[in-house]
Amino acid sequence: MSAKPRGLVIVVSGPGGVGKSTIVDVLVKRDPKLWLSRSWTTREQRVGEAPDAYKFVTREQFEQHIAADGFLEWTDFLGNLYGTPTPSAPDGKDIVLEIEVDGAQQVKKLNADALLLFILPPSRQEQKSRLHGRGDPDQKVEKRLRKAEEEEPVGKAIADYVLINDDLATTVDEMSRIIEFERKGRHS
Ligand code: ADP
Ligand code: 5GP
Repeated sequence: MSAKPRGLVIVVSGPGGVGKSTIVDVLVKRDPKLWLSRSWTTREQRVGEAPDAYKFVTREQFEQHIAADGFLEWTDFLGNLYGTPTPSAPDGKDIVLEIEVDGAQQVKKLNADALLLFILPPSRQEQKSRLHGRGDPDQKVEKRLRKAEEEEPVGKAIADYVLINDDLATTVDEMSRIIEFERKGRHS
């Protein structure tokens, strides 16, 4: 008798403005087997950002949750705290985490089977214009671009797959194919 196969833990990572949340939104709507974890953050909600994009909390609330051992991983990203609450996905679902590189490293250490998809922009210039297009102020854009220089070598080194998000539909299709392939591999 074979043990019940566990769902995948899919980590989508990459520098800011590369398109992670956009990609993940489409993937999760398309594939009912995916369960998207909602992160906690101490950063302020952006203008036009969905209120459920994160659980927006105070630093005090976040620190209380750390003390209660309530996070799978958490990090300080450019002065704000971000964390994945201990996942509670329904049985049979694959968990999707959309997180930065330090968090991705933590998850890989906890679970070597986690599938890490690392997303790159077609160019730094395109990443910059996406960040501006999203409404990030100039100072934040510069910080995120500088941070990307540190994040990319680390992300590439630990990733199972590296994808360049040029055309959105193509990236989403490629990710769907990878996920299907990994599901088959683990259930056979
Ligand atoms: P991240 O979650 O990686 O920080 P977002 O998903 O917020 O990035 O995307 C940043 C901006 O880039 C958004 O305005 C989004 O609509 C846009 N975007 C995402 N993917 C693409 C793409 N393939 N081509 C052009 N624009 C994109
Ligand atoms: P943003 O402020 O652009 O929404 O997010 C900043 C960075 O934090 C992004 O790279 C995003 O993927 C990452 N992030 C979002 N949630 C989490 C989380 O729970 N944990 C970690 N480690 N990073 C996160």
